[in-house]
Amino acid sequence: MIFLAAIALLSCPQLDEDDAKPEIDISVGCKECGFMGAEDCDNHGKLFEAEQGVDYCWLATQCEDCLGTLLADCNKCESGPLYIKRQRELGKQERFRNSTTQPATLFERELPRIISKHFDICVTAEKMKNGSKNMNTHQLIHAMATECEASATLFDEHFQAQPYSYSNRARLWYFTDAKDHQEVCIEILGSNGGADLKFYGVNPAVSSFSNGYGLGNDALEVVRNAVHVSIHLMLSSVHQVGWIGNKKAGWFDIGAAHWYEDKLFARVATYCVEEANSGLHYENGKWRVAMKKHLRKNKDYILPRLTQLTSGVLEEEQHALAWSLFDYMVANHPEALKPMLLGYKNGVESRVLFKKHLEMNIMQVEDAWRGWVAETYPLKDLKPRKRV
Ligand SMILES: [Zn+2]
Ligand SMILES: [Zn+2]
Ligand SMILES: [Zn+2]
Ligand SMILES: [Zn+2]
Repeated sequence: MIFLAAIALLSCPQLDEDDAKPEIDISVGCKECGFMGAEDCDNHGKLFEAEQGVDYCWLATQCEDCLGTLLADCNKCESGPLYIKRQRELGKQERFRNSTTQPATLFERELPRIISKHFDICVTAEKMKNGSKNMNTHQLIHAMATECEASATLFDEHFQAQPYSYSNRARLWYFTDAKDHQEVCIEILGSNGGADLKFYGVNPAVSSFSNGYGLGNDALEVVRNAVHVSIHLMLSSVHQVGWIGNKKAGWFDIGAAHWYEDKLFARVATYCVEEANSGLHYENGKWRVAMKKHLRKNKDYILPRLTQLTSGVLEEEQHALAWSLFDYMVANHPEALKPMLLGYKNGVESRVLFKKHLEMNIMQVEDAWRGWVAETYPLKDLKPRKRV
């Protein structure tokens, strides 16, 4: 048999590829598409990479060439690896397009919306300042998704989380208009709100409006706020649903939210409404130098009291102390973060959790934390980011 096949091949050596192969290789595209079956859609300009980083974008899905798959059909063949990928993506895009988001249903109009690995985001701002330039809605909502996902990736590492570890994607809703926000608070979140309203539970959400409460009309401020708030929401929905801010774990809830905000932007500027007695702005949001000095000056033990407080009663300086203690935990005991969080969710006290997971009592934790701050915090703070 092998011998005969060899004869057959040798007998027609002058045939070119197209004539010889039509029935043999139809699964691998055609010459036209480089045997891939589809190619990158070139309608997305500078945002192409950002589009690749999300599962769904309300605007990308309106692209006539790719319908949000980011792959343009070859049109000359119906095969090849990217053809198959495109088909799969088409189904996914349709599912997301047909999924409703509550504010859109409430307002009876489509809202700018992005769905990413951890988040379901709606933003209505039409134009926003970003550094010396302006951003449109599309750029802004992608910037929010990109930054929030970057912090969520770190969060996943710290808390040993996978997508299925969360009860659901956290919904982030930022409206330009206070009236829209108010309506969403009353009709969907079941409260008359305030400047921002968080909803902890199986489907965590935040509603806020970008002209109010210190957010100005500035992309950096709005996105930084979203990064901070999304950490509160993820803390409440990861591994086991429950908010720890109303337990004696305010330091952990607030310390974490500030930590990721600082990690990305080198500055802390977000104090949530239910935490803040308004107008808080400790040390201009640059905390390393301030903490180093503060702890050097104040020798009395801080943690026995700090670790007893709920989020709502933390004062300005305690926000920074909570952040620093979380900073110590991340740097020195990252493996303890998940069990500590779960412990707090189940009402276990700090002294028990420290003993169990750090093998130290509260005073020993404080000594270790103070020593670490004295040794590692710099004499000069990092330069804060100026834009997203
Ligand atoms: Zn082709
Ligand atoms: Zn997009
Ligand atoms: Zn496209
Ligand atoms: Zn907060």
